[in-house]
This record gives sequence, C-alpha cells and structure tokens, in this order.
Amino acid sequence: MSRVLIIGAGGVGRVVAHKCAALREVFTDICLASRTLSKAQQIASEVKGKIEIAQLDADRVNDTVALIRSFNAELVIHVALPYQDLAIMDACLEAGVDYLDTANYEPPDQARFEYRWQWDYQQRFQSAGLMALLGSGFDPGVTNVFCAYAQKHLFDEIHEVDILDCNAGDHGHPFATNFNPEINIREVTAPGRYWEQGQWKQTEPLSVSREFDFPEVGLRRAYLMYHEELESLSLHLKGLKRIRFWMTFGEAYLNHLKVLENVGMTGIEPVTFQGQEIIPLQFLKVLLPDPASLGPRTQGQTCIGCLIHGVKEGKPRRIFLYNVCDHRACYQEVKSQAVSYTTGVPATIGAKQILTGQWRQPGVFNMEQCDPDPFMNDLNHFGLPWQIKEFGLDEELLQH
Ligand code: NDP
Repeated sequence: MSRVLIIGAGGVGRVVAHKCAALREVFTDICLASRTLSKAQQIASEVKGKIEIAQLDADRVNDTVALIRSFNAELVIHVALPYQDLAIMDACLEAGVDYLDTANYEPPDQARFEYRWQWDYQQRFQSAGLMALLGSGFDPGVTNVFCAYAQKHLFDEIHEVDILDCNAGDHGHPFATNFNPEINIREVTAPGRYWEQGQWKQTEPLSVSREFDFPEVGLRRAYLMYHEELESLSLHLKGLKRIRFWMTFGEAYLNHLKVLENVGMTGIEPVTFQGQEIIPLQFLKVLLPDPASLGPRTQGQTCIGCLIHGVKEGKPRRIFLYNVCDHRACYQEVKSQAVSYTTGVPATIGAKQILTGQWRQPGVFNMEQCDPDPFMNDLNHFGLPWQIKEFGLDEELLQH
C-alpha cells in the first residue's frame, strides 16, 4: 500500500497521473491536487481507475500540510512550478513525508536557479528520516542517471560530458514553448555557463552553438546553455574535466524570441499598464499557446542524451547514451506531447524507487547519487528505452 500526492495538474502532472494510475501495485492510492481544480478533474476523468482530486495553492504551507495529512500521503510528487519547491519541502517536513521534484528552486523575482536553497534542507531531511529526491525529470533527471550508469558500468574515468537536448517536434504554431512558457523563457534567455577544470565559464545567452547529428533525428544546431544538472554533476562525477549543456532551437523560435526580448516582453520587472502592475513575461504567457494544448498537434521526435568521453580499461572511449521519444506515440498513450512525457515518466520512476525502498534514504539527494541500475531498467519498461552509440575518437563531433 502506498499513497501518493501529486501536486500540479499541468502537462507533466497529466503524465505522472496516467503513469501512476497504470501502476497500482506501487501507487495504490493517488490524489492529484492543483491550483485550478477543473484541470485536475479533467485528468482524473482520463486515467485508469479512480484517483482523488483536490484544490490546493501549494504556496500556502499549512494548506499543503493539511492535505498531506487528510489524504495520509507517504510521498509528494511535486510537478507544479519551481517557485513552490521550498514551500512544498517545508510542508513535507512538517507532515513527515518524502518529497520529489523535477526542477530546482527559483525565486519568482530573480531569473536565477541553483541547488543551494534546496541542499540547505539536508540536515532537516536527514534528522527527520525523510528523503527529498531532486530533479527527477529528463534533464535534470535521466541525464544524471545516464552519467551515474556510465560511471558505474561503461568507464573507469569520465573526463568530458556534453548533455545534448534536441526537440525536433513540430507543433505548427509560429511560436510556442513546449513546457511552462515563463520557466522556459527565463531559462533560455539566461547567460550560458559551463564548468571546466573546476571553474565556471560564462557566455552571452545563445551565443555559442554547434551542430550534432542526433540519432534518428539528424543534424541539428544546438546552443550552449546553463542547466541545473551541471551544478550537481560537476560535484559528483569524479575526475571530470569539463561538462556542458546544449539545446537545439529552430530559426523561427530564435527570431521570435529575439524580437520579444528586444521589445521587453520577456522581462520579469513589473511595469504599470492602465493603472495596474503587470509582469511582461507573465502577460506573454497568457498570450502563448498552453503547452498542454500542443499534444494533439505535435509530430516528430525528441532525442536527449549524454555524449561522454573518458577511459575504459586504459583505452579512451566516447559514447552517446540517449533516448528517442515520439510526440505522437506519447499523445496516444497519455494525451501529452513528448516533452511532458519525458519529464513525467522519470518522475514516476523516481517515485517508484522511493516507495519500493530501492532508493529510499534520509537526506536530500540528486539523482546521480542513487544506484542507476533499477532506474535504468525501469526506463526500458515504462516508455523511455535508452540506447548507446559508440563513436571513434577521430570522428569530428559538435562541429561549428
Ligand atoms: P505547467 O505550467 O503545464 O503546469 C504547472 C501546473 O502547476 C499547473 O497546472 C498550475 O496550475 C500548477 N500550479 C502552479 N502554481 C501552483 C500552486 N501555487 N499551487 C498548486 N498548483 C500550482 O508546467 P509543466 O507541467 O510543463 O511543468 C511542470 C514542472 O516540470 C515545472 O517545474 C517544470 O520546470 C518542470 N519540468 C522539468 C523538466 C525536466 O526535464 N526536468 C522538463 C520540463 C518541465 P494552474 O493550472 O492553475 O496554472
């Protein structure tokens, strides 16, 4: 018997609810809570079997504690927004339950994210005997587990990691983001940053790019960005010399983004409009297509993986460990496109590792700190099979 509370009935929440409801031997009782009850209601009407729903503003710690207690949850899967991370961690500590999320904390008034705020909970979770599992999506999440798996089985030493995220899906809109537009645009417009020889190096936003031939997708241009798993992986991968993160964007997306930035629509400082304060980026979110609505119109694939260079048995080795996911197939299965799917499935698998005791231990953990084997095995069974492509050392990869 295990009772799980899912918070957030968005694109990712829909996938988590579908996947948990299809795995009742682990998730016997499920409650889906969100700010807008009708969204939770809609998802509950789609999933296999019965799940409970509740209205919740997770910024209000006492309300979350009361819901955890009344539902008697053992674990909270937080798939609302990164702004709620600390409030929900506080509620879990107060109510005495485990915690899992897919994105690290961001203060709403600063476009900045780092693990420090959540790592600071280490002592409290440890002494309460509770677990907080951070970043159990795809990237962060599966990419961290790929690195842990490579470290355990494929390499004796890992020297360089390039995480490559390609969404080659087409939704037919001139401009849309495939997860929460506010979070997505804050991330994409931030300066690029990577880690080399113990130092962080900063680049202008989207100013460095390379081409990569993604398996099953083909040649795509990927842009260097800062992404949160760089912070934990640069600490936890022994012998690492460099780690970077790259994401592909089409030209139309980049042109729209540039114009929106130039006219100030991506700003997060309040402006006064007709006597009322508004935040331009929040207003833009209202105008853009809801990512949840992209599901039925998106076709094509995502390909996300880790290009890893290191040494095995005294010989240099280079591999790409990756997953390819098809937007249409995801929609047919859970009524969501692949970006929500590739986040929601790992959240469900991470929750399974906690509830079945495979990963459960007191404290705050990033994914690469746990044994990758049961998670890698579950990826193959729950919709995100992975593959390994071996590269010769003389092959030119990541070309200008
Ligand atoms: P959506 O915007 O589609 O969904 C977020 C949901 O959370 C909405 O239903 C929203 O409610 C609800 N919500 C927002 N604030 C609150 C609150 N205070 N209390 C209760 N519910 C709230 O986002 P996504 O589903 O696309 O993304 C979910 C999370 O997954 C985000 O944190 C995102 O950063 C993360 N993510 C992680 C990825 C990874 O690979 N690690 C990749 C993609 C996303 P309402 O409907 O009322 O607005």
